[in-house]
Amino acid sequence: MKQHDADDGTTRTRYVPYWLVVMVCYVVSFSGAASLWVRDYRDVQIAAEVLAREQGAIVFNLIQLSRQWNAEHGGVWVEETASSPANPYLDHAERDLLTVDGKRLTMVNPAYMTRQMAEMAGKSDTGLRLRFHLTSLNPIRPDNRADVWESESLRMFEAGAKERLSYFDAGTGSQASHTGSPAYRYMAPLPVTSACMDCHAKQGYKVGDIRGGISVTMEANHFRDMVRSQRESKTVSYFAMALLFALLLHSVAWRSYRYAAHMRRIQREQELTILERTAALSESGARYRGVFDTVTEAIMVLDDRGTVVQVNPAFTRITGYTAEMAVGQSVDFLRSGHHDQKFFAMMDAALVAQGHWEGDYWIRRQDGGLLVVWQSVTRLRGELPAASGGVVPMAAEAGSVLSGGLVITFFDITARKTEEDAVRHLAQHDLLTELPNRGLFLDRLGKALEQAERHQRLLAVMYFDLDKFKAANDTLGHAAGDAILQQTAQRALRCVRAADTVARFGGDEFAILLPEVHGEDEALDIAGRLVASMAEPFFLSEGKAEVSVSVGLALFPVHGTTALELQQRADKALYAVKRAGRNACRIYSPDCEA
Ligand code: GH3
Ligand code: MG
Repeated sequence: MKQHDADDGTTRTRYVPYWLVVMVCYVVSFSGAASLWVRDYRDVQIAAEVLAREQGAIVFNLIQLSRQWNAEHGGVWVEETASSPANPYLDHAERDLLTVDGKRLTMVNPAYMTRQMAEMAGKSDTGLRLRFHLTSLNPIRPDNRADVWESESLRMFEAGAKERLSYFDAGTGSQASHTGSPAYRYMAPLPVTSACMDCHAKQGYKVGDIRGGISVTMEANHFRDMVRSQRESKTVSYFAMALLFALLLHSVAWRSYRYAAHMRRIQREQELTILERTAALSESGARYRGVFDTVTEAIMVLDDRGTVVQVNPAFTRITGYTAEMAVGQSVDFLRSGHHDQKFFAMMDAALVAQGHWEGDYWIRRQDGGLLVVWQSVTRLRGELPAASGGVVPMAAEAGSVLSGGLVITFFDITARKTEEDAVRHLAQHDLLTELPNRGLFLDRLGKALEQAERHQRLLAVMYFDLDKFKAANDTLGHAAGDAILQQTAQRALRCVRAADTVARFGGDEFAILLPEVHGEDEALDIAGRLVASMAEPFFLSEGKAEVSVSVGLALFPVHGTTALELQQRADKALYAVKRAGRNACRIYSPDCEA
């Protein structure tokens, strides 16, 4: 088999031609059967010869037995008749006897008996189809002389052979067959026994010499018929067997080729489908690449270790980092330092739970500037191991493992964010002093109350109002009044801690939130410092002004547990100070209600 690529891009396989496989099936089947047939063809002939040899040996042994019987009885006497005349070759003193009633008896020795039996067999039409012949190289009776084949055989026996079998065709001459038909000839030797010595001692034989032999001629037609019929039946059965086997192989080959063709068709269809899909994919890939390159949102793809593997042109426009700078780096290079570990833990948790996080995120540009972006982080495939701890690249330790990677998109919202912050600032702050307004103050008070309650801490609300401010306003003018208000804010801020809130409620009314105090003394101390700082004169472009301040205090949970209660009590304390002559501070007490 050999492979090559087809013009359409699919792969084709070249197979051995079907006709060749079929031919091999038939050649293998018939050559196998032929070799078996050749072996059996020979074996059938051998079996026939074995049979003929056995049959010849049986006949020979029967004759030999009867001869032995005769010899051991010293010959037998029969009535002398035309068919049994006195044997002229028998030299015996009592060859012919006359019975008391006048019958002539003549002696029949083994040789005479054998000859008479042979003559009977020759005339027999009992279907025996065999002849035998007593013979010798040195016959007493001339008619017993050996023919050519018998002479050869006798010489072989004298040389030590025990028997001989030959086959003769009908046409091989009279020596072959007494019947003129195809024949097997069997011959075995007659060794001289002591019983033979009566007649043959005078010929010089000794016991054990080969006196002669008996040849048995068996018609071979039935052997030949048997061989032919067996060969015919074997030929037919081997041919049938070869044909069957060849057909079987043929059918297997046919099925295999049909299956292979089916599989080739399926393979080709699959290859075509793959080609079509590959083409479609490369088309859609190009389309997506176009989108990736042209969108205004920055896109950054991270691998499962938080390393940047791909960024788009918008990423470069927004961050200043080119693809060459970003790819292969840990995403840490965008970190602004704006977010704490808590923030990243929250981002991790969202990614683990929903596979997605989005929100405002601060990044540092390549030129060092800070940007606020709206960032969306989406997990690609796979699960983030929950116990990995900081698996999101923004929060990740270097080398922490992400399962499946992330795709991050963002766009710059710095300008919008700035506008929003300005609006929010305006809404929550006083324009003149830049201090938080009442709304923001109350918001912070609410949160501070929750904390104080949770941690069982003291909290102080301080209200203060400038004394006789109207007069300063009237004397130096409204602008000078504004300046006094602004400086008041600065002085108040200097009296408090960073965590405290100084707010202007409007006019010359201010408030201070001390979210954590350790006692009334600490609160009073701060209030006292405020009163003292405000007692200092204000030097303005319009001239010198002296404005004092009155301060009222209320403590959580001593004077109230709600924002409203605390405000009211601080206010009562303030007005108590006003009533008492101003320029002082005091903590709320029930006296203030008067
Ligand atoms: P008291 O000691 O009782 O507080 O008397 P006061 O003169 O300070 O009077 P009061 O607090 O009732 O009035 C505050 C005055 O502050 C009223 C108004 O003329 C003046 N004022 C309010 N808002 C502004 C402002 O934004 N700028 C200026 N320059 N004056 C303001
Ligand atoms: Mg006032």
